[in-house]
Amino acid sequence: MTSRFDEPIALVVDVGGTKIAVGLIDGAGTMIHSEAGPTGGRGTDASDPAWQTLAGLLDRALGTVGDRRLAGIGVGCAGPIDPVRGTVSPVNIPAWRDFPLVDWVAELVPGVPVHLAGDGACAAAGEHWQGVAHSSDDVLVIVVSTGVGGGLLLDGKLFAGRTGNAGHIGHVVVDTAGDPCPCGGFGCVEAIASGPAMTRWARRNGWRAGDDGATAVDLATDARRDDTIALEAFRRAGTALAAGIVSTAALCDLSHCVIGGGVSAAADLLLAPLEAAYRRHARLGFLRQMRFDTAQLGSSAGLVGAAALVFQPDRYGGTGVHRRPAHHPT
Ligand SMILES: [Zn+2]
Repeated sequence: MTSRFDEPIALVVDVGGTKIAVGLIDGAGTMIHSEAGPTGGRGTDASDPAWQTLAGLLDRALGTVGDRRLAGIGVGCAGPIDPVRGTVSPVNIPAWRDFPLVDWVAELVPGVPVHLAGDGACAAAGEHWQGVAHSSDDVLVIVVSTGVGGGLLLDGKLFAGRTGNAGHIGHVVVDTAGDPCPCGGFGCVEAIASGPAMTRWARRNGWRAGDDGATAVDLATDARRDDTIALEAFRRAGTALAAGIVSTAALCDLSHCVIGGGVSAAADLLLAPLEAAYRRHARLGFLRQMRFDTAQLGSSAGLVGAAALVFQPDRYGGTGVHRRPAHHPT
């Protein structure tokens, strides 16, 4: 006899620069438990608030597992990650440099395999396994927020690449004379289309002079009130994203593009100029078949994608995804 409580579940982790989320997800993609906490201070002190937050969240999630069996642990983490060694060095968590995240998680939860992928790859896996990209084989998923990240599915499989960083649409160059990018280069999509890049450009052009605390949310509010500069900031961002998407589609023969992340809450402002610019640039027949959607899973895409790594490793666990077999304590 089987009941749904006989089905194994996945313990899932999503580590970002501002928040860490931990959940339990079953094989049908249903979230059984989830909880989030702050990633913590930006210092490099030994107390490591990010790990303390994560360890506390893992502890509480394990407390709700009960008699159910854990199929594995899926971990999505802000990059860069090292999928060979299972270490992470997230740009916004300075205390974690070559941090052995897989080993530490495995030590806390022995006897269960651990899978690690970048956050963009996890978002893409999530939207493909349970979200809006479910029926597409060649998809680019873009996460527009403080930065611009993404993940790529080719032939129905996650393509994380040699180092786990494939799909990094934010650092596709779209303006060879453009602004500096946080990556150290310049003219990248992220240097124009991230939330901070949009507000920086708008402020430089006179938007909300003297209001240094204004964010991309304020920019969206003003754009909906027909503020010319705010509208132009969204048009520039949409155009930069479109240029990156056209280039990627030409290279990878994509059929579908999904836009998610915090800025996708302003999809009404972003998608129209994005699609218009896409149509202007994409003239070859195979490029014109592109379908655009906003992400369906919202802020849980990372956790759902981490569960996809556990339940469907053939599809979502290829090169660029770290897989550590279960290590049983002696
Ligand atoms: Zn860049």
